[in-house]
Amino acid sequence: MKHLDTELVHRPRVPGEPASASSTPIYQTATFGVSDQSSWDYSRSGNPTRDVLEQQLARLDHAKCSLAYGSGMGAVAAVLRLVPVGSRIVAGVDLYGGTLRLLDTLARERQLDIELVEATDPGAVEAALGAETALVWIETPSNPRLEEADIPSIAQLAHKAGALVAVDNSILSPLGQRPLDLGADLAVQSATKVLGGHSDLTAGVVSVSDEELAERLDFLRNAEGTALAPFECWLLLRGLETLSVRLDRQLSNTEVLIDWLASQPAVHDLYSAEGSYVISLDTGSVDRSRRLLTGLELFRPTVSFGGVTSSINLPSEMSHASVPERWRSRSALSPSLVRLSIGIENVDDLRDDLERGLGSVSPTAGLQAVVR
Ligand SMILES: *Cc1c(COP(=O)(O)O)cnc(C)c1O
Repeated sequence: MKHLDTELVHRPRVPGEPASASSTPIYQTATFGVSDQSSWDYSRSGNPTRDVLEQQLARLDHAKCSLAYGSGMGAVAAVLRLVPVGSRIVAGVDLYGGTLRLLDTLARERQLDIELVEATDPGAVEAALGAETALVWIETPSNPRLEEADIPSIAQLAHKAGALVAVDNSILSPLGQRPLDLGADLAVQSATKVLGGHSDLTAGVVSVSDEELAERLDFLRNAEGTALAPFECWLLLRGLETLSVRLDRQLSNTEVLIDWLASQPAVHDLYSAEGSYVISLDTGSVDRSRRLLTGLELFRPTVSFGGVTSSINLPSEMSHASVPERWRSRSALSPSLVRLSIGIENVDDLRDDLERGLGSVSPTAGLQAVVR
């Protein structure tokens, strides 16, 4: 078997494609002529461009089967759809805001019992498990505090209790961590983030190794019509080709910036995780964090992360503003926490940008001006 970075740029071919096109053709069609030779009849059920994408995603995730959805939340919803009415979901407290909002809605509509625990502590997960637990949901490293959970230990405990384990792997991508290899049943990703990498599409992925789970997901996706459209599949295929080189650059930039940020007096706390190009910092003041957000040139204030351009986010007011009120205190999110996503720009330019921005919000900025 070839190495993954080789496989990412050598896509499988669509069987029977007559022109031997170098790029995967976009099958921009709803219907296909029904014939004995072809398995495709309708794009909601199956599309050749999507098939090529899903083969690449399955290679990446070491999965038997990967399914592409219209967004990351589409993928999250597909997994939560597997949970029977009235059962329990045990989830980490530090979760993506949209996931918490959906859990909150489902808790009411489908009488689900949602237990939020510190997923960094397998003992806390174990204590929350019960016979009625259908699913354990973990996001690791978590967003935005970048806390890491021990997937193999949690999977072992959950399986003993008869629960499935889903891991939201949106930050690291399969190149940083393969949840299925570590014992999870479902690996979920927002492909809007680093998989796509160019902030030009929304997409989500669920990967599984169990045939029966794959069949249930595929049945529901066809029945509910939530699959990713052909053009987005093609964009994601193109993004995947550079995933490995983008990550290399993002991570080397991140390493340099972490070292530098750690010595900055305006930075009170710094959060990072192995293999993550997302880092968070706390200035200790909401006002300073807000000013930092709008005071940078290269780090654009946007809600997402993982793109080739660096971005900055104030989770309490942006990406996590959708967290339901009753869970806000549980998630213990500092209102002045700033999340940075490091892109592929020249690292000296990124450091200069942060230096200017932090200099202008530093608590001693006014004082220095007087001294000078
Ligand atoms: C963004 C994100 C999602 C949702 O993905 P969308 O593509 O925005 O729908 C889910 N989980 C995590 C960890 C995310 O960062």
